[in-house]
Amino acid sequence: MSAASKPSPAPRKIPVCVPLLDGHEERYVAQAVRDGWISSVGPAVAAFEKGFASWCGAAHGVGVSNGTAALHLALRALDVGPGDEVVIPDFAMVAVLFAVLYCGATPVAVDVEPDTGNLDPARVAEAVGPRTKAVIAVHTYGHPCDVEALRAATAGSGAAIVEDAAEAHGAEWRGRRAGALGDVASFSFYANKILTTGEGGMVVTSNERLAERCRYLRNLCFPLDAPRDYFHEEIGFNYRLTNVQAALGLAQLERADALVERRRATARRYAARLAAVPGVRLPIERAGARNVHWMFAIRVDPERFGATRDELARELAGRGVETRPFFRPMHVQPPYLRARPDERRSFLVSDRLAAEGLYLPSSPALTDDDVAYVCEAIATIGRRG
Ligand SMILES: *Cc1c(COP(=O)(O)O)cnc(C)c1O
Repeated sequence: MSAASKPSPAPRKIPVCVPLLDGHEERYVAQAVRDGWISSVGPAVAAFEKGFASWCGAAHGVGVSNGTAALHLALRALDVGPGDEVVIPDFAMVAVLFAVLYCGATPVAVDVEPDTGNLDPARVAEAVGPRTKAVIAVHTYGHPCDVEALRAATAGSGAAIVEDAAEAHGAEWRGRRAGALGDVASFSFYANKILTTGEGGMVVTSNERLAERCRYLRNLCFPLDAPRDYFHEEIGFNYRLTNVQAALGLAQLERADALVERRRATARRYAARLAAVPGVRLPIERAGARNVHWMFAIRVDPERFGATRDELARELAGRGVETRPFFRPMHVQPPYLRARPDERRSFLVSDRLAAEGLYLPSSPALTDDDVAYVCEAIATIGRRG
């Protein structure tokens, strides 16, 4: 075909992440509406809680309104409060910081591992002290934390390991799933997470006492099995998940393994096509880990690539490819600095990740053709620089 007769390609628009809702989602939600189960009362809630927890390999699930609420509830169930310290990764979604601050506790940010972006166990060991009540292990971008190393780092301190598994549905560490690795775990089912209920979340644990505490706290501290006499012993929250959300969740759960596999297949495609592009650092999968690649997260070395991360993001946007930069570190967030006015540590790794990282389109329905288009664009932008 001559250049003159070649049709100009339709302008592409590849969003960073949109959900896939073409299973039983519509049917189950319609059923919930038809049956009148639209509040948090209804059969789908318990079915989703039980089903999701067991998919994770844990005994109990407590459905809540979002992932931030799940994390807050998990910390409250552990009685985290004023005077307590909670160790968090310096590089993570800001909800991790906020959940600690909602409890009135003191966040202690520590630097992360350069290859996974997860808590660095050596830094955790340095940060743990007599006031440490919990460590929040965030499985960043879908790569599970080395929980044995974190246990070793906190040994003897009594600190609980709280997994933030919002980005890691189905991730595994040495054959065990996220949600069953720590003492208690929080999940988000926001629209861009691997399983979604639109908005929603869950606390997952095999500790029955913690699960009961979460059920109690989630529903304004109404007694769980006593008649309603409107007497409230403690401060509770309305963090309830609705039956409509849970209905959506049940449809997603039916194909949870396939949704995880789509993320992993996308990652393999990206990795194969980007392996030879100089200056692009690809996500890893450590021995013993199953990385579920919530988002395909790369790092750009500006010297070797020939353009900065921000230049690459701008150029990709011009070609219809939506991306997101990595999170900004906790230690630059004003609420963190107000809570830790004496913070003097440096965070070389998280600063670097924040400057160099971006994630590429990662929708479950992304095609091989979409991936090829994105990778071709990246290679072109790099060479030009
Ligand atoms: C998405 C996310 C959250 C917050 O979940 P929401 O449902 O949006 O409140 C918390 N932690 C991490 C690591 C996340 O990625």
